Amino acid sequence: MRRTAERVKEEHNEKKRISKWTVSTGLLAFGHAPKAVLLVLGLGLGLGLGLVTGAAAANDGYPRMDDVDILHYRIQLEIGETGRAIQGETTILAEMLAAGRDVLPLDLGALTVDRVTVGGKSAAFDHSDNRLSITFEDSYAAGDTVAVVVSYGGEPVDGLFIQPNKFGDRSVFADNWPNRARHWFPGVDHPYDKATAEFIVTAPAAYDVVANGRMLETTAVPPERKRTHWKTDAPIPTYCMVIGAARFSIVRPGSWREIPVSYYLFPGDRDAGTADFARSTEMLAFYTDLIGPYPYAKLALVQSSTRFGGMENASAIFFSEHSITGTRRNEAVVAHEIAHQWFGDSVTESDWHHLWLSEGFATYFGALFFEEADGDERFHEMLARSRSRVIDANRRAPAPVFNPGITDLFDLLNAYNYSKGGLVLHMLRGLMGDEAFFAGIRDFYARFRDQTVLTRDFRSVMATRLGEDLGWFFDQWIYRAGHPVVEVTWSWDDRNGEVAVRLSQTQPQEPYRLPVTLAFVAGDRQERRLVELRDRSHEFRFRLDGAPAEVLVDPDAWLLMEARARQGDG
Ligand SMILES: [Zn+2]
Repeated sequence: MRRTAERVKEEHNEKKRISKWTVSTGLLAFGHAPKAVLLVLGLGLGLGLGLVTGAAAANDGYPRMDDVDILHYRIQLEIGETGRAIQGETTILAEMLAAGRDVLPLDLGALTVDRVTVGGKSAAFDHSDNRLSITFEDSYAAGDTVAVVVSYGGEPVDGLFIQPNKFGDRSVFADNWPNRARHWFPGVDHPYDKATAEFIVTAPAAYDVVANGRMLETTAVPPERKRTHWKTDAPIPTYCMVIGAARFSIVRPGSWREIPVSYYLFPGDRDAGTADFARSTEMLAFYTDLIGPYPYAKLALVQSSTRFGGMENASAIFFSEHSITGTRRNEAVVAHEIAHQWFGDSVTESDWHHLWLSEGFATYFGALFFEEADGDERFHEMLARSRSRVIDANRRAPAPVFNPGITDLFDLLNAYNYSKGGLVLHMLRGLMGDEAFFAGIRDFYARFRDQTVLTRDFRSVMATRLGEDLGWFFDQWIYRAGHPVVEVTWSWDDRNGEVAVRLSQTQPQEPYRLPVTLAFVAGDRQERRLVELRDRSHEFRFRLDGAPAEVLVDPDAWLLMEARARQGDG
């Protein structure tokens, strides 16, 4: 079990290794490279995959129902003193959006279904291949709400883990991403249909239970059990619906604008976890000011057993039990997961192939906290690390961010959805300017809070804010593989007092539309010019006060590109 978990962690390291981002000064240090070779990162010679347009129908293959909307899950669980079995009863409230449906198919893994009722009456069902198909005896009209109750039990094979934690204490943790919630409760296990949820968990009295939303009740159940009731009134995707139950130290460092913050830590790691999570309230404040109101009733940071370094479960973020060290080295993961509360959890991709709307946003907004709190240097180190990951990934296997060829959802946890997605946001910020970009981000959140989105929704909001079409930008950065590789040759024309600069895009893919800043450096003096590339090759001439000693390409590192500048023959 542990080895398997380790292997999975290695394979899906994008999701866990944000904490391992390391300083990579030199690799992308625009100003400190040897003269005439400003930035050499090798040529990313990839296969041209051609342009995949965004017009392709969004569909990751999950069978969507357009005549049913799941409104709410009421998940009641009994967890015993020993063993790995659970007993569950989940009530699903479904609204009919059209008349005529006679079977409701749900996702449910290999648990034993004892009984199903629909509207209080026993219903026939078929349970096979992780699908639970429930027959409606009655016919429903559009607008009718139907209560489906499924009673079930057994040992979950995935999704809910009942096992000793790192201290040997028995613990219970859900770990759903992307579609493993079905292994412990029935539902529409796909983010296209978000719902509110409540959890009524009866467990040994020594355990505290944490879940999404607000705690409504704890009640002693004699002789030695306790019932805990949590409920979220904000709709969330099933991959974020979780419970955690264990012997915890619950630390309450305070609240921010009436949002309580709490840490659920194993008692042996109480001090270490309190140190690791110390900046979470500051992060909550930062993102609220930057994006808009925090979407949930509380923010809990939970030490857990999860296969990921951090998992952004709505308002109950799970962190790998091993990531708690007291050194704050997981701080970038903490920021990433808190940023996810807005992007991923509240504004959710409705199709898995648009995962960058969750992971690219969390990557970039995670880094933005450090730009604000710790300064430009740390922020630019994070961006540089992202750039080198994308360049490495492109060298191995060029692919677009939006890649409908991916069928194993875990393969979506790649450098394109995370690092390139984040850099796309940085480039969009560079293009729009801070004021318009962050205003657009606030528009996007305000418009789609608690809802689902596709890339075109984001593009449309940002284009409206900018007042210009952004189709070209998203086509080249999201729907096309590769990135620009720019060769710059310059020479000084002493007779005319001009510098001549030739920029050529040498990547195998078609030319990018690319606004590039050039800095002409002579001693302490630096003159800058902004040029826009559209074709394979451009030549520009600029009058300068004197011959530059060197030319810097994109000196503030806004762009995802590989660039090489050299002085040519005069
Ligand atoms: Zn993430």
